[in-house]
Amino acid sequence: MRPGISLNPIAFPPPLGYASPVFVTILMHPYGVPPVIIKSAEFVKSATRPANYPPAGLPEIAFSGRSNVGKSSLINVLVGRKGLVRTSSTPGRTQLLNFFDINGAFSLVDLPGYGFAKVPLAVKKQWGPMVRTYLETRESLRAVVILFDIRRIPREEDLQLLDWLEEFEIPTIPVITKADKVGKSHRERQLKPILEATGLPRDAFTLFSATSREGREEVWERIEEALGASPA
Ligand code: GDP
Repeated sequence: MRPGISLNPIAFPPPLGYASPVFVTILMHPYGVPPVIIKSAEFVKSATRPANYPPAGLPEIAFSGRSNVGKSSLINVLVGRKGLVRTSSTPGRTQLLNFFDINGAFSLVDLPGYGFAKVPLAVKKQWGPMVRTYLETRESLRAVVILFDIRRIPREEDLQLLDWLEEFEIPTIPVITKADKVGKSHRERQLKPILEATGLPRDAFTLFSATSREGREEVWERIEEALGASPA
């Protein structure tokens, strides 16, 4: 449990029964962090190179992962807007960096997915320089959420991305997607190859499901921590 936060049922009895908003809030947010309230979520622009990025005024969180890992679904669930980021999008549009403004307070960036089987080699080759340049030059970047499908072993681009994040000392928020696809009793076994391939400890990962919304609060907490202050 994080410093300064206590979850003591004696200190916090439900004064008006279980419906007390105080008690409900504490139950839902055991770290005492209020939920991020999304007042506005807007697509700003797409870009491929620094000259076309929007101005770097607001702190920024980027999202990256293999195509089909559940990146669009995660972003849509986080901001509570079903169609903000297109799910199962065509490879064409996803080969861009897509910038979104949240609450006029911070930015989310949907980085191009990798590993598309159908993308031409020339396009595949652009992914590395495009993403590496963004990571290296974007001063407002506070953290990268990197996604891993619970049923897949990380591959070359996943590990390449982790290497760059380490090289540029960018905080990393690893998230395991589609947790609902694996029964709770099998999850730890399923995670083993991911931990082995990435070399990251178990507690670095948040388990997430876009279907059940499990893990939404935890991902937000990690994002808020990276942003350094409550963005809401
Ligand atoms: P992206 O290519 O990484 O943006 O992936 P999408 O968000 O488009 O998801 C790819 C496919 O996986 C879609 O069919 C989604 O409905 C499905 N999907 C995404 N997240 C989840 C999840 O948490 N649980 C389940 N069961 N399916 C998911």
